[in-house]
Amino acid sequence: MEMLLHFSYLMLPEGDLQVMDCSSHCTALLIRRCCRKWGFVLKNPMQRAEGMSLCFVFLQKELQGTMFVLTKQCISFRLCSGFGSPKASGKMRVTDTGEALPRTKQIQFADQKQEFNKRPTKIGRRSLSRSISQSSTDSYSSAASYTDSSDDETSPRDKQQKNSKGSSDFCVKNIKQAEFGRREIEIAEQEMPALMALRKRAQGEKPLAGAKIVGCTHITAQTAVLMETLGALGAQCRWAACNIYSTLNEVAAALAESGFPVFAWKGESEDDFWWCIDRCVNVEGWQPNMILDDGGDLTHWIYKKYPNMFKKIKGIVEESVTGVHRLYQLSKAGKLCVPAMNVNDSVTKQKFDNLYCCRESILDGLKRTTDMMFGGKQVVVCGYGEVGKGCCAALKAMGSIVYVTEIDPICALQACMDGFRLVKLNEVIRQVDIVITCTGNKNVVTREHLDRMKNSCIVCNMGHSNTEIDVASLRTPELTWERVRSQVDHVIWPDGKRIVLLAEGRLLNLSCSTVPTFVLSITATTQALALIELYNAPEGRYKQDVYLLPKKMDEYVASLHLPTFDAHLTELTDEQAKYLGLNKNGPFKPNYYRY
Ligand code: NAD
Repeated sequence: MEMLLHFSYLMLPEGDLQVMDCSSHCTALLIRRCCRKWGFVLKNPMQRAEGMSLCFVFLQKELQGTMFVLTKQCISFRLCSGFGSPKASGKMRVTDTGEALPRTKQIQFADQKQEFNKRPTKIGRRSLSRSISQSSTDSYSSAASYTDSSDDETSPRDKQQKNSKGSSDFCVKNIKQAEFGRREIEIAEQEMPALMALRKRAQGEKPLAGAKIVGCTHITAQTAVLMETLGALGAQCRWAACNIYSTLNEVAAALAESGFPVFAWKGESEDDFWWCIDRCVNVEGWQPNMILDDGGDLTHWIYKKYPNMFKKIKGIVEESVTGVHRLYQLSKAGKLCVPAMNVNDSVTKQKFDNLYCCRESILDGLKRTTDMMFGGKQVVVCGYGEVGKGCCAALKAMGSIVYVTEIDPICALQACMDGFRLVKLNEVIRQVDIVITCTGNKNVVTREHLDRMKNSCIVCNMGHSNTEIDVASLRTPELTWERVRSQVDHVIWPDGKRIVLLAEGRLLNLSCSTVPTFVLSITATTQALALIELYNAPEGRYKQDVYLLPKKMDEYVASLHLPTFDAHLTELTDEQAKYLGLNKNGPFKPNYYRY
């Protein structure tokens, strides 16, 4: 693996160095981890500076061939000597072999290619709690990629490990990484106010007392906050990973250290994957009575191997599009034997995944891959649904000139009302600097469009999987592909024109940026409430069918996040409530209301 760094020095001076990272705390974590990996001593491991920026001061041990972050994404940061202003910046590519590559040398992304090639179809699910299942078949959240790869190649299944309390009921990469994982969990807690509020509120009562939850989700710091919240609410949990690559080993170690039977590590084989699930379910003296699933594999495993377990299971909470689809199929076939909650389609989650998350991550993804400036750039956004609206709003705010294409007159009119020029792609394709697809459709950008783009036009996709841009049409002999960075290809025409294709047409934000913890907080809170609801529901409230989270709970998820912003909600007076025909405590909208 490799990455591109912007250095203030190609030759770093000896002595104290400060790494200033202004992009995100995850980047800072990456730096810290790599410093450890490559033997730098962190003098001041983690100092929270303003906002999410962090700074680290460490002693430099080596000069040239300095290696830092090993990740699929490109991260730019500045290295400064002392605390002064950065010196003239240069660019250097570094590899994990310690070899500093000359600027002009082409870099092979062997590791990365291999990873995509060998990925089994099973992980064709959402990446990190997104509602876009197919996206993770070909793209992969960078949030999952900052786990330090251990040099120890022994399979965790062959290791004898115990936590400090003597328990060996877990299987993680390395229990010794627990302390580091704990710090990550603590950082995540700060952006997951609703779960923390649930913990506080439940101090007296334990709504999940007696619940035995078996979970299969991405194992990240955010999931850890969820699991520890479920624990604080009285539940016992056993957990496996729903994706063979997304486990953060340190976090899994931290959970195992604090007593959670976790069976997961980054880079599991297909066989490991099912073994881990089985270790969660097939336990002497412990039987689950609730399922929390992301993708439906755990549910499927129990159906296949231990159908009798469903006698004790009170309900399933499912997170992903794929898993929900499977549940609806089971229900239709009359085979669903317990109630299931579809949390994927709750309003708050949908809004956060599609609109707000994309509004934030479009800029992040573009910046990390291209270092471009947005002001004055001409951008065309194809599709003005939730994702398109988010992208347009962010780019407009940065001073870009934004055009929109739409097929639906309602969304088209919305775009006009929001101040965007509605055009056909053909009308602007020659002049735009960036093309972004957000339609959920296929072949929105065709070879004909690509042929007509101007030199250096950036092309990327925020919508459906990798179907929106006809990338296959670019794999012809007359075009040359040049990989310039991770997730960035230059496609060069015979006349020298080049376009910049990001993430090979896969979802830009999932491939090249991170998912904000706050977005995952919404999802995790929804999951926790769905578990509480199903576990405590009186007999007969839910039948053997798939349900959406009750509107009132959706509203509750939102309300738990409001204090973060010191937001003050207006309460209905009795008179107003009567006038509107509403209960003063909600639900405030009918189910058909479109937010
Ligand atoms: P949406 O249905 O609200 O919006 C899509 C819009 O595209 C619609 O208004 C539709 O009329 C329009 N459209 C369809 N074909 C078009 C075409 N040929 N030209 C122009 N416009 C066209 O859906 P959404 O919630 O905005 O999601 C869009 C896609 O993004 C989906 O595939 C979804 O799975 C994906 N998604 C991505 C992320 C992410 O993080 N990148 C998050 C959520 C959803």
